[in-house]
Amino acid sequence: MRVLIVEDEVRQAAALARGLEAEGFAVDVAGNGTDGLWMATENAYDAIVLDVMLPGMNGYRVCAELRARDVWTPILMLTAKDGEYDEAEALDTGADDFLSKPFSYVVLVAHLRALMRRGSPQRPAALVAGGLTLDIAEHSCRRDGVAVELTPREFAILEYLMRRAGEAVPKRNIVDHVWDSAYEGHDNVVEVHVSSLRRKVGPDAIETVRGGGYRVGGRVG
Ligand code: CA
Repeated sequence: MRVLIVEDEVRQAAALARGLEAEGFAVDVAGNGTDGLWMATENAYDAIVLDVMLPGMNGYRVCAELRARDVWTPILMLTAKDGEYDEAEALDTGADDFLSKPFSYVVLVAHLRALMRRGSPQRPAALVAGGLTLDIAEHSCRRDGVAVELTPREFAILEYLMRRAGEAVPKRNIVDHVWDSAYEGHDNVVEVHVSSLRRKVGPDAIETVRGGGYRVGGRVG
């Protein structure tokens, strides 16, 4: 896991870098906003620790500019408790999380790990097809904007079909990808789950295709 620290206070930056390296992170340090922006654009980091108070280009501007350049690396912003900037503003500019200075080092590492687990805000894109929206990160499903509760297996089947929206997907492929490889059951198990899915998301959302498969989102081509 590679982390970029953008902090002008040399001692604080060095202490942070040492601490994170001891936790097993690979760490780069930028001493001002302009360098930070450049490094974050040129390199792929798993997370960025970005101080708000920086000479020249402040942390908010760095954050907003990164998002404007389509860089979606998770950003943990360091704010000063009684400074002129506040936490709401940090989130407004596209930061994913913030910590007020002074912060505990343990808390910082916990926040960083949580951010990395969540990944980039753009990466878990929602799948949209046939009136259905599947949010992979949230594990939620909506039909025409209305939330639908699915079991994990139903969700997995629907995700598999929606990743192939417009394609006729044979039942066997669904069994092979949604059940683990040790499963030797019959393809009919898919039918049972699909009929349950149809009761929840609407009978027309999942089409049965000739030859024994399913399709979401209409035929392509
Ligand atoms: Ca600073």
